[in-house]
Amino acid sequence: MASAFGHVAVAYAMGKTVDTTWISTRFWVFSVFCCVLPDADVLGLLVGIPYEHVLGHRGITHSIAFAVLVGLVVPCFLVPHSSFWSKHYGVLAIYFGLVTMSHGLLDALTDGGLGIAFFAPFDATRYFFPWRPITVSPIGLTQFFSSWGLGVLLSELIWLGIPVACWLLILRGMKRKRASRGREAH
Ligand SMILES: [Zn+2]
Repeated sequence: MASAFGHVAVAYAMGKTVDTTWISTRFWVFSVFCCVLPDADVLGLLVGIPYEHVLGHRGITHSIAFAVLVGLVVPCFLVPHSSFWSKHYGVLAIYFGLVTMSHGLLDALTDGGLGIAFFAPFDATRYFFPWRPITVSPIGLTQFFSSWGLGVLLSELIWLGIPVACWLLILRGMKRKRASRGREAH
């Protein structure tokens, strides 16, 4: 896994890209929930499910199918009175699906563990990207508070923190441009 910090940073950048009128505290709570949810599969390790099993770590909860399912369900809690077929529901479903999927994509950029079962439950093959610059995060908290954890944070600062910061600056620039264009139009 990438660390929770890395996953949340990317989810934050994704959330900032969404129409601001749709953003609420609950939106952010679900954004954080969705970006870390796939790692709930580590609980399987505690009950004896092997890492390499399709229900194991980086298995089905890191798949595209799981992300689609989460994306379809989460908007029910945000816009309960909105029709499933409305634009608002659809955009939120795509957003939360992508936030959930971002987890597996980041994990596939890490340099350790097994790959990601992107196509589970149809195909249990594990995949990594050919380029894996992010130091893999330890599963246990104890190991995280060590030089290993420090290395993880440093690599995420470079490979996730900098791109996220750049993207937020671009968004801010675009927002300002839109605002000044709006003022000129009046
Ligand atoms: Zn993971």
